[in-house]
Amino acid sequence: MTATGNSAASRDKAFVLHPYTNLHAHETQGPLIIERGEGVRVYDDAGNAYIEAMASLWCVSLGWGEERLVQAAAKQMRQLSSYHIFGHKSHEPGIDLAEKLIKLAPVPMSKVFFANSGSEANDTAVKLIWYYNNALGRPEKKKILARTRGYHGVTVASASLTGLPNNHRDFDLPIARILHADCPHHYRNAHPGESEEDFATRLAEQLEAQILAEGPDTVAAFFAEPIMGAGGVVVPPATYYEKIQAVLKKYDILLVADEVICGFGRTGTFWGSQTLGMRPDILTCAKQLSSGYLPISAVMVSEAVYRACVDESKKIGTFGHGYTYSAHPVAAAVALETLAIYEERDILGHVRDVAVPFQKRLKALADHPLVGEVRGTGLIGALELVADKATKANFDPVGRAGAVVNTLAQENGLIVRAMGDSIALCPPLVIGEDDVHQVFDRLTTALDAAIPVLR
Ligand code: PLP
Repeated sequence: MTATGNSAASRDKAFVLHPYTNLHAHETQGPLIIERGEGVRVYDDAGNAYIEAMASLWCVSLGWGEERLVQAAAKQMRQLSSYHIFGHKSHEPGIDLAEKLIKLAPVPMSKVFFANSGSEANDTAVKLIWYYNNALGRPEKKKILARTRGYHGVTVASASLTGLPNNHRDFDLPIARILHADCPHHYRNAHPGESEEDFATRLAEQLEAQILAEGPDTVAAFFAEPIMGAGGVVVPPATYYEKIQAVLKKYDILLVADEVICGFGRTGTFWGSQTLGMRPDILTCAKQLSSGYLPISAVMVSEAVYRACVDESKKIGTFGHGYTYSAHPVAAAVALETLAIYEERDILGHVRDVAVPFQKRLKALADHPLVGEVRGTGLIGALELVADKATKANFDPVGRAGAVVNTLAQENGLIVRAMGDSIALCPPLVIGEDDVHQVFDRLTTALDAAIPVLR
């Protein structure tokens, strides 16, 4: 869209500071303005249709225009359009949603704390862990481990957990007491000939060495996405979590499962923790909790963590943490309706069915001359672009090939997301088989068109 006069594009450039955007490039390039959505497609202001193969940002599980969610929001808006749950106040949408999440939890959980975003949920988890260890009289046990290439958000603590350079650089992050363990990416980080199992064993040994070097009495928790998303979709090697969890248990270190992307069916089970065999003490979730229709996130905590917080709040006189919009009744009502739809329409069964052609078409792209590796599970996938398949050499500079394919996909009516030179796919869970084929047909066209540009 050209930015002329008083157009939306020129006003965007005049007034909007865009998240996750090259602000300098935006001043000349301007925005792609999305006007409406229907099913798995969105439409720009010139009427062009795109298959949204990222479900917006990994969240619009039920696709656009789900009338039941619109009605749930409107009904709640009329009844109780806003209210808080500070200081013993409560309301039924918040209570019902907490009860529902506890029933759905992958392991026994005790209580649910609500926030508005994945970042806030993870910041809350960090604070709860510190509070918990103070309650237990362990003021030194405060360091938090996350992983290189992990993504946990952008607020001060969650951006520190995130293991990506651009989230730290010149923001003066990470903060103290946040550490990063190795990334479990077999294709990039395994030794030549090392099996997945051996790689997982080595990662667990490296984790143990890191904990011992820091001092086990100073390490409080380990944050992990079951499958890393924004770091380029990294599926850990076989036996990884089994071995990692044995180390965490040995040193009394809590496991936090960041289910912000994997939660609610994305990997073919309800939680990524179930697909990957994780038994978290704390679980954070967001995004598909409300199909991305309204901002809401949740932190589930075990009884042990909750009890320690009760003791600490008794001592202090309050639990001094909460957001104005924690358990916002309209967001909670939409989340409840989303969860009801998942059950009634057997969205999980649908994901398992449609994941078969999705993964098959993804795997077939491994033969493409630009593709070094494909990886994925359920309805999440990625392909990594390389300059040389045999040596796994990256394109130079890293990120250019991803940007080229991203643009060519968009020109072919397909929205994907480039993370460096990995291209991620994460379509709405309701996508049908025909549209899965459309996604891969368009992506193949884009990849083919990228060959002469990149070579
Ligand atoms: N955790 C994970 C795994 C995510 O993918 C994201 C966002 O993509 C976040 C946390 C942060 O969520 P938000 O952008 O809602 O703050």
